Amino acid sequence: MAAIELNGKELAQQLRNEMKDDVVALQNKGITPQLTVILVGDNPASMSYVNGKKKASAEVGIDSNIINLSADITEETLIEEIDKLNEDPTVHGILVQLPLPDHIQEQHIIEAISPQKDVDGFHPINIGKMMTNQNTFLPCTPYGIMTMLESKSIQVEGKDAVVIGRSNIVGKPIGQLLLNANATVTYCHSRTKNLKDYTQNADILIVAIGKPHVIDASYVKEGAVIIDVGINRLSDGSLTGDVDFESAKQKAAYITPVPRGVGPMTIAMLLKNTIQAAKELNHS
Ligand code: NAP
Repeated sequence: MAAIELNGKELAQQLRNEMKDDVVALQNKGITPQLTVILVGDNPASMSYVNGKKKASAEVGIDSNIINLSADITEETLIEEIDKLNEDPTVHGILVQLPLPDHIQEQHIIEAISPQKDVDGFHPINIGKMMTNQNTFLPCTPYGIMTMLESKSIQVEGKDAVVIGRSNIVGKPIGQLLLNANATVTYCHSRTKNLKDYTQNADILIVAIGKPHVIDASYVKEGAVIIDVGINRLSDGSLTGDVDFESAKQKAAYITPVPRGVGPMTIAMLLKNTIQAAKELNHS
């Protein structure tokens, strides 16, 4: 039997509808959640992501501001801009769109953002809290994945989870969140020998590689839950995932499509984190 599709687009819409009520409740107390996005340079993909965040913010009533900075800005000046936002009480969430130009060290920029306004959940303090299972801003993509699993009451506890990919923004944190939820987690990456030996035993398979259709049915355990994080643009302009959806869905129990899977959830969780930041900064 073909897998059930986990539709992130529909779930994200449902979450945005729920968030509208949260925003109204805050506005009734005189607080409008505000997200400031810093965009350095004019990378078309980054501009498109930033516009998506602005549109989604507007839909739920979050005020958003995009600061466009020139690609030749120095690291020092960028940090000064961030400092101003850290000090501004009307700003609740700060996000610096990645990647940054090569002359700027991303880690310095991430660490310049106040942990209380770090709605991307990338600051080492927030990562440390996540690792020690404390309440904090969770990185948006892993947070979105966990929310998708919860929405379908998919059991994580006691399951064997395999994460392919070990980036700081997806692979490592989703493995940690699955571990926090009592899964047994294995990380795989480009140096993993015999990848199939791991994936074929995975009850939950998270794929965050960034290469189209690397994972087909032969990697998949019968009845597995497959979360495809990859977003790859093909030569015809269409988007596709890291998983060969058509073959894998014949074996899996649940699978996320690309597009309409994890992507929309990532933005929804950014909005959720921004609302949370507005509440916490105002002790509301
Ligand atoms: P990344 O930093 O490039 O990491 C890719 C990971 O995949 C690395 O750990 C790499 O191993 C591993 N890898 C590469 N080729 C492999 C192979 N053949 N077999 C096994 N592992 C392999 O990418 P990322 O930022 O995590 O993003 C991954 C994908 O998710 C991209 O397509 C990105 O666009 C997408 N993404 C989507 C969302 C969303 O909202 N849906 C959000 C973020 C990212 P090494 O560490 O050994 O190099």
